[in-house]
Amino acid sequence: MTGTAHHVVIVGAGFGGLAVAQGLASAPVRITIIDQRNHHLFQPLLYQVATASLATSEIAWPIRHLVRKRKEICTLLGTVSSVDPEKRKVALDDGAEIAYDTLVLATGARHAYFGHDEWEPYAPGLKTLEDATSIRRRILLSFERAERETDAARRAALLTFVIIGGGPTGVELAGDIAELAHHNLPPDFRHIDTRKARVVLIEAGARILPSFTPDLSAYAHAALEHLGVDIQLGSAVSECSADGVIFGGQPLAAKVILWAAGVRASPAAAWLGVPADNAGRLKVEPDLTAPGRPEIFVIGDTATIDAWKGKPVPGIAPAAKQQGAHAANTIKRRLGGDTAARPFRYQHAGNLATIGKRSAVIDFGWIKVRGRLAWWLWGLAHIYFLIGMRNRLAVALSWFWIYVTGNRSARLITQGDQRPTAR
Ligand SMILES: Cc1cc2nc3c(=O)[nH]c(=O)nc-3n(C[C@H](O)[C@H](O)[C@H](O)COP(=O)(O)OP(=O)(O)OC[C@H]3O[C@@H](n4cnc5c(N)ncnc54)[C@H](O)[C@@H]3O)c2cc1C
Repeated sequence: MTGTAHHVVIVGAGFGGLAVAQGLASAPVRITIIDQRNHHLFQPLLYQVATASLATSEIAWPIRHLVRKRKEICTLLGTVSSVDPEKRKVALDDGAEIAYDTLVLATGARHAYFGHDEWEPYAPGLKTLEDATSIRRRILLSFERAERETDAARRAALLTFVIIGGGPTGVELAGDIAELAHHNLPPDFRHIDTRKARVVLIEAGARILPSFTPDLSAYAHAALEHLGVDIQLGSAVSECSADGVIFGGQPLAAKVILWAAGVRASPAAAWLGVPADNAGRLKVEPDLTAPGRPEIFVIGDTATIDAWKGKPVPGIAPAAKQQGAHAANTIKRRLGGDTAARPFRYQHAGNLATIGKRSAVIDFGWIKVRGRLAWWLWGLAHIYFLIGMRNRLAVALSWFWIYVTGNRSARLITQGDQRPTAR
């Protein structure tokens, strides 16, 4: 593609951004993909890195390698810090500027603490590979410290794992940590009985998995309790500190606290100076463009639109992919001379959540599946959506190995201080 071809700049190579690039295959365009990380991340399996089931390289791929056969795509490692819609340029935080004809903002979201950002050091959230390996380190270090602790109260705090937020990520983390502690680790320790570890899932609402039907929520609740998870409903956490949490007015001593309770969109709305919702998501036009800027598409977790039978589109991977495909189609049609705006319509395939390594709940709308069959369907779906045969085989083999032997090969404490006294 020549240097004069229509230039599409895609910021963010997550599910949405990559879907745009894929949809523009064979279109008469030049594409620049900018991402602050060098890899595309399969976030749905991130919790399995945090709980030592999978290695980082099994769920992430270098963006540059993914698009290596597309000569019209240039990949840049960089962090976008602002957009100048008048000059049609994005600026990177190192001062570089990149001009575009069409811009796609697909910069996702981060976790949010409802105005309590000071909780983040004590209750990290899960969004990046760094988050996952840091959480894995905290969990494994806590067992190591407990093994050397002689004071009963301090040992109990080290063996108490609190997860805040009963959505799919909180449920998946709680179930996997409970399995790790109660089934996988016991033979490896001499001074502690890891089966006595307490995994507490705190949800402010009336039930876990509120986006699922009440019967599937109830099933997941019972399945988690069967794994030994202590579920606390109806109480919001009012304090997080190095010593633990306060919820429902009561303190709970815990050395590992994980945050799975809220997200905040990337600042795409602030870059463009246009309205956002409470979670910072830019309110896009029906065709996914920014208000008054038909040449700027905003898609995925950083956008909000009521395009699911009048309801907001959920912040999940299939939604980001469908929006990416819609944006790519619109760009192609415009280049062909068809400038009519077509509204985006979201097709929901279903809700999935897994509970440990043997159970899951799936709501396809027309049918609900739960238990072991649901877990197999969940596993097959996730393996199918991974990129590349090597990763599919590696993840399938890792799960099979854990399933049969209970041995999690990714149980490595990396990064920072390795001493049991370190936090
Ligand atoms: C722990 C977890 C579990 C999940 N589980 C599921 C699940 O089971 N099923 C499901 O469907 N969905 C799940 N999701 C949600 C799903 O991952 C998101 O909805 C999806 O990733 C959104 O895609 P996106 O393209 O909008 O953003 P992302 O996939 O988050 O991609 C955003 C990209 O933008 C880049 N970026 C951000 N800011 C900048 C910047 N300023 N400059 C340059 N690059 C930038 C990021 O590095 C990233 O690569 C989960 C999410 C998390 C965090």
